Amino acid sequence: MKTCCVCGKEIKDDDFYYGIDYKTFCCSEECHDIYHWSYIVNHKNDYAIIEGQCYRPGEYCDNSKFSGLAGRKITLFWNDKMVVTENLNYIGKVPRQYRLLLPNNAFIYDPEANRNDK
Ligand SMILES: [Zn+2]
Repeated sequence: MKTCCVCGKEIKDDDFYYGIDYKTFCCSEECHDIYHWSYIVNHKNDYAIIEGQCYRPGEYCDNSKFSGLAGRKITLFWNDKMVVTENLNYIGKVPRQYRLLLPNNAFIYDPEANRNDK
C-alpha cells in the first residue's frame, strides 16, 4: 500500500506523483508541490536561486543536447563562490510561500555586461 509522504493519505491505484527519489509518493499535485519545494529547502546548497528563479547546476554533461540551457556555458557567483557550469538546469519559479526560505543565493556573471559599460 502506498501512502502520500506529505499528508499520509492512502494512494489507490496508479493515481499518484513520484517524489524526487522515485521512492516516495504524493497523492496530488498540491502535495507534490509541497514535497518538491520542501526538499529543495532542505537541500538548498544544491540549488542556485537567481532573482527568484530556481536552478540546479549539474555535473558536466557530454552531450549538450541533454544539458541544462542547451549546454550554454554560464558563470555563476553561487554561495560566495565562482562556478562555471555547462549544465544549468531550470527548476522553476520559487513559489511565494517559499521565498523567505529560499532567498537569492546566486547571480549570473556576464563579462559582456562590463564591456558594454565603457
Ligand atoms: Zn497528499
